[in-house]
Amino acid sequence: MNTITCILNENQRLHLKHVFQEYLVLNTPPYAEYQLKPENCTITAYLSGKVVFQGKDATTYAATYNPEVKKEKSKAVTHSDHQSHAGSDEVGTGDYFGPVCVSACFIGQQDIAWVKSLKVNDSKQLTDEKIIEIAPQLMERLDHSLLIVSPSKYNQIHNAYNMNQIKAILHNQAYLHLKSKIQQLPKLAVVDQFTPEKSYYHYLVGQKEIIRGLHFETKAESHYLAVACASMIARYAFLKSWEAMETQYEMNLGKGAGAKVDQDGVAFIKKYGKERLGEVAKLHFKNTEKIADLL
Ligand code: MN
Repeated sequence: MNTITCILNENQRLHLKHVFQEYLVLNTPPYAEYQLKPENCTITAYLSGKVVFQGKDATTYAATYNPEVKKEKSKAVTHSDHQSHAGSDEVGTGDYFGPVCVSACFIGQQDIAWVKSLKVNDSKQLTDEKIIEIAPQLMERLDHSLLIVSPSKYNQIHNAYNMNQIKAILHNQAYLHLKSKIQQLPKLAVVDQFTPEKSYYHYLVGQKEIIRGLHFETKAESHYLAVACASMIARYAFLKSWEAMETQYEMNLGKGAGAKVDQDGVAFIKKYGKERLGEVAKLHFKNTEKIADLL
């Protein structure tokens, strides 16, 4: 059992309580100000200012507040170029047509030089051809997980969850799958940030298992090799699914969500009927109304 004790001022204690408010325990133990029981940790705050984190993930929860742990964490971030780390990214959430693909990828220390030699650093600048050439090599050599959510499935899920919630659930799933492959996630696991950390975990309330201790950063694919690799793997899966979709429906469909996409939507409906649009498109996009107006 992991136990970490720190002294927090009143503001920090309030902040902590606020962040994990849905885990507040009703029967507060004697002398305690409050107690929280999030996944894998019990957090007890005392009026004296003492806060005790106890449980498997105590270090993770305490990291924000315990200066010792924090120092270690920020050191890890600056040295990600040389050390094992994991990263995750998603593709397809800005495209009306096609699936949403999410990947989480692990790079062990021994593979860092190899990945660097492939020049994956700026995945956004790579052409589709380059991705189709490099991604299979990454997938063969690196431990990774990959989730492909078809438009039909996506539309079904979107009835209950918004886009950011779906992304959070998928990133969490991707890390769970990755964890099952490599036993233990590395200390540094980076999410290409799409929502603030607090909202991310809020979206995951109710999930069976939640991966904690992730590092959130925007434009992470330019700073972390594993995020760049995850981004390429997800992009590769997206492109392959796209190819299969165009072959199946014998149509060329546009990427993104612009005017060309509306035209393609009209053409699809003329060929297959309105009720089948959900097989290829994310129906909650504004494009669906624009397409209906154009018909
Ligand atoms: Mn991203």
